[in-house]
Amino acid sequence: MSTDRSLNFIEEIIEKDLQSGAYSQICTRFPPEPNGYLHIGHAKSICLNFGLSLKYGGKTNLRFDDTNPTTEEVEYVESIKEDIGWLGFKWSNEFYASDYFEKLYEFAVILIRKGFAYVDDSSADEIAEQKGTPTKSGVRNKYADRTVEENLKLFSEMREGKYNDGEKIVRAKIDMESSNMLMRDPILYRIKKSHHHRTANKWCIYPMYDFAHGQSDSIENITHSICTLEFISHRELYNWFIEKLEIFQSKQYEFARLNLSFTIMSKRKLLQLVNEKYVTGWDDPRMPTISGMRRRGYTPESIRDFCEKIGIAKRENIIDVGLLEFCVREHLNKIALRRMVVFDPIKVVITNYQNKTLNENFEYLNTENNNEDPNAGMRKITFGKELLIERNDFMEFPTKKYFRLSPGQMVRLKSAYIIKCDEIIKDELGNISELHCTYFPESKSGSDTSGLHVKGTLHWVGASNAVEVEVREYDRLFNVEDPSREERDFKEFINANSLKSVKGFAEPSIKNALSSERFQFLRKGFYCLDKESTTENLIFNRTVTLKDSWAKEIKKDK
Ligand code: ATP
Ligand code: MG
Repeated sequence: MSTDRSLNFIEEIIEKDLQSGAYSQICTRFPPEPNGYLHIGHAKSICLNFGLSLKYGGKTNLRFDDTNPTTEEVEYVESIKEDIGWLGFKWSNEFYASDYFEKLYEFAVILIRKGFAYVDDSSADEIAEQKGTPTKSGVRNKYADRTVEENLKLFSEMREGKYNDGEKIVRAKIDMESSNMLMRDPILYRIKKSHHHRTANKWCIYPMYDFAHGQSDSIENITHSICTLEFISHRELYNWFIEKLEIFQSKQYEFARLNLSFTIMSKRKLLQLVNEKYVTGWDDPRMPTISGMRRRGYTPESIRDFCEKIGIAKRENIIDVGLLEFCVREHLNKIALRRMVVFDPIKVVITNYQNKTLNENFEYLNTENNNEDPNAGMRKITFGKELLIERNDFMEFPTKKYFRLSPGQMVRLKSAYIIKCDEIIKDELGNISELHCTYFPESKSGSDTSGLHVKGTLHWVGASNAVEVEVREYDRLFNVEDPSREERDFKEFINANSLKSVKGFAEPSIKNALSSERFQFLRKGFYCLDKESTTENLIFNRTVTLKDSWAKEIKKDK
């Protein structure tokens, strides 16, 4: 972690706590509910929690908040572990709230014994009705007067399965007049006769989030329990349970959740995109999930850098997705292997080409894999009689400042020679089919003695051995900056053109591409192999363009 910035408010609290001796070591936790794949918002929480324990020599637990058996699955547990590991973090312990079901049951018994909890037979509607409103006090019902013995007996019967879902609940006895609605006798336990992914059919009563979360923190001796702002109102209840149970005092701190422009960040909505096939899966490269970003070619370094750059705030805002892309570009620029790929080709015939030494129509040239990284080594490219360049790198009637190829003009072909366009060949329909050019043998890159000066450099590939590849170009998944805050259904804002598949002609070295590698296709963008790629059918994902073309589009519109 970089240290050249001022402390954020949680770091300030931690430093005070360590100095005062309140704790000798800090312990944080990352507590996902295994009901979906992690997204970039979770990455922020992960970087924060793990980052703090790394910085202050503490511990971070991974705790699955698995108290809701109906939405949770093992597939999600596995994906969450994979994603955290990929981001580069190691948890001290892997825990599950379900590990504490017995303990939590005992806690509820303790509260009942102390007269702080009771079994309520009211229906959900009645409970809602009795709860009051923020401006109107709630009222307690007759069940609150049950004796400790009766409550203990009923609670035990609930556990044994004597009652059906919804017939009874356990509530804390706090304050039906509290200005904090969560303190109006909140529910601790409900009956749910569902199979749990870890405890199977052992339980038919499950603790509510509020009753599980703080106590789990306490059981694990979590010192700083960091969550997002919507939990501010839960803090009072969090502390009430800990106080009444007389257990380790974990403390809750809240920060603003990450919102990113042009995307959504709710697992429930992301699941809808998957189920309703708007995307191909949780790891669709357009998804804001960690697995989607990984498949798209984002690096853990760039995601960590992004989380560090945005810092942590106490007020919600929307972060420009352009900042994330900036971080990705910055890292990829350092590590990506450079390759040449022509997307919309036009053929160039070098009329004066003849390789003297090999008596062949081509020659090998050496070029750097990455001009930013001397350790990245060199590769061979083949220059020859027939080449491909981009169609839009040629203009028959050039505008004034056009420095690419045009009749009579010279350009340099990257890492090769200077060429000059002598003649345009057209088909019967008048379309340009070939450009006839001459090259200057003494202008070879690296040993240029030609004395010629050109203003444009183009990427190109040899025509005879170019490798055809599929390239998937992704755009924003949504057309509006904030798809979830609008009044309408977020799915109305889905960008119908978020995926475009195009063909490319790549230099031969592309055949050796590994899925672990990152590429820059010169003058185009950053790419990586997709998981669907095969040796016969190479498929690349465009991770991000070279420049922020989106920002330009927006400016143009204005
Ligand atoms: P979602 O609303 O996407 O379902 P969640 O809050 O229900 O998210 P959890 O699995 O409970 O998801 O989240 C685990 C941790 O990640 C929590 O501590 C939560 O506060 C944090 N977290 C979730 N979303 C964000 C976000 N957008 N920004 C920062 N932290 C987040
Ligand atoms: Mg949650």
